[in-house]
Amino acid sequence: MNKDVVIVGAGVAGVNAATKLVDNNYQGKITIIDMGKDPYLRPYEEVMTGFLGAGGWSDGKLTYSTQIGGQLSKYVGEDKAMELMKQVVDNFRRFHPHPEQIILSNPTEEPEFIKPYFGLRLFPVWHIGTDYLHEIGKSWYDYLVSKGVEFKWETKVTDINFYKQVVFCDKDHHHSYDTLIFGVGKSGIDFTSEIMKKYDLPTEEKPAQIGVRFEAPQKHFQKLIDIAYDFKLYRKDDKVSLRSFCTNNNAAYVAVEETYGNHSYNGHAKKDEAFRNNMTNFGILMEIKGIKEPFKWARELVNKVQENSTGLFYSPTREPSTTSEGIDVSATKIENLDVVRDAFQGYYNYIEDFINDMKKIFPTLKDDWGIYVPEVKYLAPEPLVNYEDLSLTKYPNVHFVGDALSARGISVSGAHGTLVAEQLLSMSDAINEFLEHADKQGPWSEEDDKIHTIGGLTMPKENTNKLNKEERKQYLKNEIHNKRSDGYIIKGMKDELKKLEK
Ligand SMILES: Cc1cc2nc3c(=O)[nH]c(=O)nc-3n(C[C@H](O)[C@H](O)[C@H](O)COP(=O)(O)OP(=O)(O)OC[C@H]3O[C@@H](n4cnc5c(N)ncnc54)[C@H](O)[C@@H]3O)c2cc1C
Repeated sequence: MNKDVVIVGAGVAGVNAATKLVDNNYQGKITIIDMGKDPYLRPYEEVMTGFLGAGGWSDGKLTYSTQIGGQLSKYVGEDKAMELMKQVVDNFRRFHPHPEQIILSNPTEEPEFIKPYFGLRLFPVWHIGTDYLHEIGKSWYDYLVSKGVEFKWETKVTDINFYKQVVFCDKDHHHSYDTLIFGVGKSGIDFTSEIMKKYDLPTEEKPAQIGVRFEAPQKHFQKLIDIAYDFKLYRKDDKVSLRSFCTNNNAAYVAVEETYGNHSYNGHAKKDEAFRNNMTNFGILMEIKGIKEPFKWARELVNKVQENSTGLFYSPTREPSTTSEGIDVSATKIENLDVVRDAFQGYYNYIEDFINDMKKIFPTLKDDWGIYVPEVKYLAPEPLVNYEDLSLTKYPNVHFVGDALSARGISVSGAHGTLVAEQLLSMSDAINEFLEHADKQGPWSEEDDKIHTIGGLTMPKENTNKLNKEERKQYLKNEIHNKRSDGYIIKGMKDELKKLEK
């Protein structure tokens, strides 16, 4: 017995989940609903939505480490986390038109010249290339379609009924599910909050991660780039840890993100030589401990650094750059940092020190840089999930994945999807095996066979037949409460109970 899976969000997490399922001949129906477009129709301007979601037009840097992004190793342990991320990297390789062009940067030693001021995080990063993501997307999409996955494009999910197991969309569509995979990413952050509020989901609070996107000519950083293309400088004290985040080089462009109606910044790099601008950009992000209600605090801060409906740009010497399409990056230029200092409530000093110390280790940098304010990683309070399959503790057939579960990155988001799919596969194997044996004749004679198996439990046959709906519900509730059966059987009972309660 295979259950119908609805995946909300054709992003990195959802697509990897579907791929794992079809690769393993999952027999249930798989439907993916996304408010964006398929990879053949998705234009460059749609940075966050459509096939592969925000990963579709990202820089395509697949970090292969549990040091950054999400809490994968907390859920499944270090070894399993690495194995899951490897599967995601392999998928990108598998659908890449020129897999031989994927570059691996794998720095192994911290260079001496940064040591007095910074640490350098060392781990492998696979560089897929933004330009290739388009082609990867098309082949990957074609594969999933050929395997029977049904896609609903330009369809926004507007509500979900966890009790009736129905997803409601604009255009009056609705879809029933047995299992729901919820992977709406950052572009669906408002919707995620709505759903969490509606169902009063228990959450885990997260520290704030906020800062700026720093940009400068690449030549100033070349010495470090030669050692680590996507270098990650870091430092920390008791209260604040800082790191450079998501470094882009060669053809590096600053990208505007829109979250909660405000602008913030990120970056991406093109592979095609035609786009080379010899710039470097990276986030300088702070994680601050001890902020009460960090999510609310970060949102208020972001709101304060908006002017003319966009974020801010400051530089002692430079002008804002253009996007890869030659349009000015949307940002209001400010002459001094007063408004930024005010919004950051004393914490901007950390960023200022970070920049000043970079000037010491990269002596040509001087005043030849600019910052786009803010860059933010909204670590919204994360719903509490069961670690083994990322299902909600209150609704075990609803799985949160990717950035909707604070993944922050392509490999981690994809790994979430893969993990959920693995659990669904093992569950459906277990149920199928159980059903195969459930009605088989036992070693005793048929006459003596007075028992019939229900939901993995044995009960006198006559007894079962006499149960009316209310008795059956009570019986299931008791069995679920007493936890005498295996996990998958209890899950089957929960599903049956839900159906009876509809
Ligand atoms: C410019 C940029 C560059 C980046 N570069 C990198 C990088 O180089 N390396 C890296 O590791 N990470 C990078 N990231 C982050 C990475 O892309 C995300 O962490 C990752 O894509 C998250 O995957 P996801 O599946 O959770 O969500 P997404 O990939 O964002 O997908 C979510 C999908 O859900 C859909 N959706 C949202 N709400 C709804 C709704 N209500 N109804 C229907 N559909 C909905 C969206 O259309 C979208 O397609 C970058 C992000 C950006 C914006």
